[in-house]
Amino acid sequence: MDGLPEFRLHKPATITEAVELRRQDPSARFLAGGTDLIVNMRRGIVSPGALIDVSAISEMRRLASGPDGLVVGAAVTLEELCADTRIVKQWGLLAAAAGTVAAPSHRQAATIGGNLCLDTRCVYYNQSEWWRRSNAYCLKSRGEVCHVAPTGTRCLAAFSGDLAPALLVLGAEADIAGPQGIRTLPLAELYTDDGADHLRLAGSDLLVAVRVPPVGDLRTGYDKVRVRDAIDFPLAGAAVALRRDADTITELRLALTGTNPRPILIEGCDGLCGGPLDDAAFRRLEKLVRKQVQPMRTTVTPGHYRRRVAANIARRLVEKLYSQA
Ligand code: SF4
Repeated sequence: MDGLPEFRLHKPATITEAVELRRQDPSARFLAGGTDLIVNMRRGIVSPGALIDVSAISEMRRLASGPDGLVVGAAVTLEELCADTRIVKQWGLLAAAAGTVAAPSHRQAATIGGNLCLDTRCVYYNQSEWWRRSNAYCLKSRGEVCHVAPTGTRCLAAFSGDLAPALLVLGAEADIAGPQGIRTLPLAELYTDDGADHLRLAGSDLLVAVRVPPVGDLRTGYDKVRVRDAIDFPLAGAAVALRRDADTITELRLALTGTNPRPILIEGCDGLCGGPLDDAAFRRLEKLVRKQVQPMRTTVTPGHYRRRVAANIARRLVEKLYSQA
């Protein structure tokens, strides 16, 4: 890995100032923990002339909870999410998902906003400059062909953040700041299906906070599979929110990461509600997952393996939550 290139560093004190700095210099990038961005800069994948460090903006460090739910500033670190007793008690899924991200030293720096805005990943893209140059780069950056799907016109690099599926099943919303002020949108609308441009953030837009409704009596869980626990991104990860009344499933939401260019909330889970978790329900669940995931040859493990992994961890998690006392 190379050294860091030259860049200017801004440290704005407010969200307004940060947005204005980016408006004035569209080539600048927002920086928080830097666990993804700095690595990509050292690999020559991105070379912003300036970084706008938002990690000390107090509005983005907010962590507040009440009857309406939880508000987490985008600059709150994953370690803080794991340690906050309100979150552990009432939104345990968030703490659980955050606690699985890489190693403790990463979680000390990495933020919830950074995890939600994580760049998509591909074995042909997350490489050194000389490696990518030797392979004529690729569609996502500076090249003309996708090495994963050479006849395709769209990048299929996978989104691998762990917090997005957890927040999707909890029905979270995102606060986005722009030159016109702050707007709130369902988290699912933050993402597109294009691995080369997977965030619906325009110009100087900045993700500033996440809003999570109360969890109530939903049973929730997160699980993932990776090659090396302390380092690797998930080959596939699943978050589940389930409500059960006697033997009947009354609510079921399932979201996946690591398989598609965006985190996906699996459609059709409503069809499993109104009955018990029997063999027919398992078959239906597996069919839904296998149909909607799109793992390609973007990691060292084949796509068909990740498709099976996604279906298996989803099944295992749903079974575990359904059987919980
Ligand atoms: Fe490049 Fe294709 Fe990989 Fe996207 S999926 S990063 S275009 S090789």
